[in-house]
Amino acid sequence: MRWTDDRGGNVEDRRGSGGAIVGGGLGTIIIAAIVFFLGGDPSAILNSENIAQSSSADAKRELSANEQKIGEMVDMMGKWNIITWDQIFKENGIIYEKPKIILFESTTSSRCGIAQSAMGPFYCPADQSIYMDMSFFNELQSRFGAKVTEFTIAYVLAHEVGHHVQNLLGTLNETDKARGSARYSEAQLNQISVATELQADFYAGVWAKKTDTNKNILEPGDLESAINAAEAVGDDNIQKRSQGYVNQESFTHGSSAQRKEWFMKGYNSGDIKQGDTFSQLLR
Ligand SMILES: [Zn+2]
Repeated sequence: MRWTDDRGGNVEDRRGSGGAIVGGGLGTIIIAAIVFFLGGDPSAILNSENIAQSSSADAKRELSANEQKIGEMVDMMGKWNIITWDQIFKENGIIYEKPKIILFESTTSSRCGIAQSAMGPFYCPADQSIYMDMSFFNELQSRFGAKVTEFTIAYVLAHEVGHHVQNLLGTLNETDKARGSARYSEAQLNQISVATELQADFYAGVWAKKTDTNKNILEPGDLESAINAAEAVGDDNIQKRSQGYVNQESFTHGSSAQRKEWFMKGYNSGDIKQGDTFSQLLR
């Protein structure tokens, strides 16, 4: 991945700030609206009592040179997303509002509840923010077998920005409504979740294509590392690794093959109008 001098990605860096959670007073934890990057497990959101105990032990510290470099890289990637989505929205006669990117470690508060590293990166519609603990990428490599490169991080961030785009376009509102109604079976709701996730992968592909056209960021192997990560977080791969078998009905993010397919569909078309994952899955 080729770096550019773009900066200004709307990043809030909470790393090293020492126990970002102030115990107590957080009130009801809203989990319904969270879209997880990995298989959605709402129980991963800790209750505030646990947090209050664990976070008080974290001390303030300086970020290492490498951590600072990663922060700078995410800031650059954030800016790439702003530039590209600004352009795409303008082409469609609408205004883009940029999301916030929050880097944290172990735990931090969000308007969707308490963010915890174990949840993986996620987007919170309530505060239009993407929450990312960079230790996720170590796990992606060690537990899910992905070969992590800089562009892996770009893909994951673009996937989360894809959820933000869905929020701005009203898609998340529709899926929430579906979840709130009694019309759908659990299997159907899982399909809706899969369609939501595959569309975020599709948007990440569109983003990669457009950004590369404008900024020439892709280097040999980059596309492959995004595809590799998309496959690694496919439900079949995650289930095989965590429980030893695959249950397609419980898929919430799509299979490895589907995730690769929709990312590439976005990349090859570069056209957000080709990303209707819903009508194809919900028959
Ligand atoms: Zn997602």
